Amino acid sequence: MSLVIYNTLSREKEPFVPLDPAHVRLYVCGPTVYDYVHIGNARPVVAFDVLYRLLKRRYPRVTYVRNITDIDDKIMARATECGESIDALTKRTGDAYQSDMRRLGALAPDHEPRATEYVGQMIELIQQLIAKGHAYAADGHVLFSVPSMPDYGRLSRKPRDELIAGARVEVAPYKKDPADFVLWKPSAATQAGWPSPWGRGRPGWHIECSAMSGALLGETFDIHGGGLDLIFPHHENEIAQSRSAFGHATMAKYWMHNGFLNISGEKMSKSLGNFLTVHELLDQYPAEAIRLLLLSAHYRQPLDFTHEGLQQARATLDRLYRAVASLKDVAAEPVEQLRIEQGTVETDLEDDLNTPLAIARLHALADYVLNPTKLVGYDDRKPVEIRPGQLKSRLLASGYTLGVLQQDPDVWFKDPRRAVSVSIHERLNATDTLDAQVSDLEIEAEIAKRNEAREAKNFAEADRIRDELKAQGVILEDGPKGTTWKRG
Ligand code: AMP
Ligand code: ZN
Repeated sequence: MSLVIYNTLSREKEPFVPLDPAHVRLYVCGPTVYDYVHIGNARPVVAFDVLYRLLKRRYPRVTYVRNITDIDDKIMARATECGESIDALTKRTGDAYQSDMRRLGALAPDHEPRATEYVGQMIELIQQLIAKGHAYAADGHVLFSVPSMPDYGRLSRKPRDELIAGARVEVAPYKKDPADFVLWKPSAATQAGWPSPWGRGRPGWHIECSAMSGALLGETFDIHGGGLDLIFPHHENEIAQSRSAFGHATMAKYWMHNGFLNISGEKMSKSLGNFLTVHELLDQYPAEAIRLLLLSAHYRQPLDFTHEGLQQARATLDRLYRAVASLKDVAAEPVEQLRIEQGTVETDLEDDLNTPLAIARLHALADYVLNPTKLVGYDDRKPVEIRPGQLKSRLLASGYTLGVLQQDPDVWFKDPRRAVSVSIHERLNATDTLDAQVSDLEIEAEIAKRNEAREAKNFAEADRIRDELKAQGVILEDGPKGTTWKRG
């Protein structure tokens, strides 16, 4: 199978055909830094990190650019509020963001440009737009002329009256058309600003990404990504600027957008105040559990954040690391695909980053490891031997592509934030007893569930329950009179 991705431009899944197979280029919009980022902001970082890992496996050279927006009115307001310089504020919060993303297992992008380092390129781009009749200066501002681009709106597919309705909220007298948007705006003496042909001022948000992607990836490149909220106006306007300035029909060939991370059914956002920062969550949970949670839903689907979800992710990793630990003394035997597998984690991901399926596959691999009776698989109904060394190499290689299972299991199990596996409590809705020892009643309830699973021939679920109880120090014994248990 080869890589297929959903392209927001066509609203269809398309085979990925790079512009230049010798050099694949990817740009993802990063955050505006004025505080710690929230866990919703980490969703695009983790989702596109998986894409980056996958592309790196398949292509000889991949350049990944993920920017940092370090000039913006919110930043200016926060700096005044804190009595801190903009530089100091954005350095501090930008560094914290990078370190938090590293802890979430995101590989460092090839370039992580800060917008203020590219103001010169932004000014040049604006000059090009003016020279080509796509922009005009008015009242210290420079605006992009939307009517100068006949197919403006192709990405968001918004009809013109909707574009205008949206723009009318802040209709400014210097706009020739209500849909026109700002490329450059004037700064008061007390505000951050740069000298420009239009007076001292600062760039609009959209022009930043056109300038940085143009400088680091070229006038057209392969994939542009970000969250769903960026389709309009940010990405629509990036396309308008880059295509009009550079004179190409395409800015990026594929546009990918992740769905929202929600909390109680609502988009997590700074403005709604319903957010949890990655920084605080990293104090409470192992980073890898946060990453796994973010990958547990398909990237285009909404993902509801809950502490139970994080605890479940932690319990899943307990099980996967138990499988890795049990292979400690086994030498890995490289194998691309086990004969019992239909596809691999990589082929799951090649189908528009199907991370839920990839995680289910990790479970299935762990199942083989943790249940030695399963070490014989069936291929065309003929038994085939699966060697532990092969399982080890598949588990670790698959984990790498997802960015999990890369630490020593001892390190995982010693992480104080891992605490006890809590999935049993979760299922009993008793999350307030997280640290308590699992009670006799809970064990009996789990055994009853396991019996149900076995009757339904759902042996994977039955095994999972047994493994989870084992992690709690409870050993099950199946005998002719049913299942008995003891604390180990
Ligand atoms: P911002 O700093 O708001 O520009 O956001 C940085 C990145 O995070 C962008 O790609 C946004 O689309 C994305 N983002 C913001 N909030 C969420 C959310 N609740 N769920 C998923 N992605 C989000
Ligand atoms: Zn952007």
